[in-house]
Amino acid sequence: MAHHGYERSEAMFAEALKVIPGGVNSPVRAFKSVGRNPVFIDRANGAYLYDVDGNRYIDYVQSWGPMIVGHNHPEVAEVLKAAVDRGTSYGAPTELETKLANMVLEAFPAMDKVRMVNSGTEATMSALRLARGFTGRSKIVKFEGCYHGHADSLLIKAGSGALTFGVPTSPGVPANIAANTITAPYNDLETLREIFAQVGSDIAAVIIEGVPGNMGVVPPRPGYLQGVRELTQEFGALLIFDEVMSGFRVAYGGAQSRYKIDPDITCLGKIIGGGLPVGAYGGKAEIMEKISPAGPIYQAGTLSGNPLAMTAGIATLNILKRPGTYDELEKKAAYLADGLAQAAQDAGVAVSTNRVGAMFTGFFTEQPVNDFASAFTSDTEAFATYFRAMLDRGVYLACSQFEAAFMSLAHTQEDLDATIAAARESFQVVAE
Ligand code: PLP
Repeated sequence: MAHHGYERSEAMFAEALKVIPGGVNSPVRAFKSVGRNPVFIDRANGAYLYDVDGNRYIDYVQSWGPMIVGHNHPEVAEVLKAAVDRGTSYGAPTELETKLANMVLEAFPAMDKVRMVNSGTEATMSALRLARGFTGRSKIVKFEGCYHGHADSLLIKAGSGALTFGVPTSPGVPANIAANTITAPYNDLETLREIFAQVGSDIAAVIIEGVPGNMGVVPPRPGYLQGVRELTQEFGALLIFDEVMSGFRVAYGGAQSRYKIDPDITCLGKIIGGGLPVGAYGGKAEIMEKISPAGPIYQAGTLSGNPLAMTAGIATLNILKRPGTYDELEKKAAYLADGLAQAAQDAGVAVSTNRVGAMFTGFFTEQPVNDFASAFTSDTEAFATYFRAMLDRGVYLACSQFEAAFMSLAHTQEDLDATIAAARESFQVVAE
């Protein structure tokens, strides 16, 4: 396919920079870590993105996860168009909200009730308040390399030792908030045990990604999640499973169905909105009943449960529910991840691949990656070179080494083979 350059994208980015901080409405989109400017998108269909210069890309970002049935899926688009004709927001209850809630509860038996919000950030932020309100405790534990959105309590990294005060990763997060967040190494049950031994009775909740995708994909070690579940139970802390990325992605019932974990609270987002802004948090009835107006813990939203978002979510889950869907996603993701790994090997480029279901990451390192420290042995310059070479060849990857690639139902065998062919050339560019 002829390449049309990036002239219009460059011009649009220059205009955007004048009026939007960094030219983008979410930082990673700026492509900073891959040393170039972003492409501006005109439209998307199936497995493809089309930029404003007329270039077509096979898309493995999928709007960072939600577009698992493919862009502009006819069944989603049709009901959405009909929904627009009935008005776009009422700020009053609709049956659609109960319908999507029931679909979520059916998929996630750990939840008895669920509250819809507008983003993953809202879901995790609200889940923390709920956990603190329910337990009457202040501290939370998170893990290095896990991302849960940009709420103050969650933009925290580890201090110099496991039990030193957390350090904000952004100016504007007060030190007294950081002091209540403990950051532990992922996949390390021993350190978590020590933390609980020392301050276990102050810990309201442990929050963990079902399958971490925000340091690249890092699967939990066998028994790790069970260990986390047992520890939290022993000390009366809640376990919050952040399945914003992994929910309806690594299985219909998320990571908790894959690894057989029964968390107290689950956070969802991305896929359940089918590409519209949605998040959700849900859990055991006795916990969820504490949320306003059923209980005293306040949380609200003008656009929460928005009819367009509910419609897109229901239509997306209706497609995903069909038999064979997740087998297809898994097979295609395995084929692609294996093909890319082989291409890297043939070019003599060290790549270590992690995959769980329809999400995977090829890390530019020789080491197996099982935590944040090993993920950071990756050669990010080599990744950036690979990313740019793939973009020029019509493949749109996440613009950071520390992200996941997502498979969709729309990707065809031809797309996968074209991607592997592009990767063979791109790894050569890296090797040169
Ligand atoms: N939690 C996880 C696991 C995520 O991957 C993300 C976003 O990527 C979030 C929370 C935050 O979601 P949002 O960007 O919708 O606020």
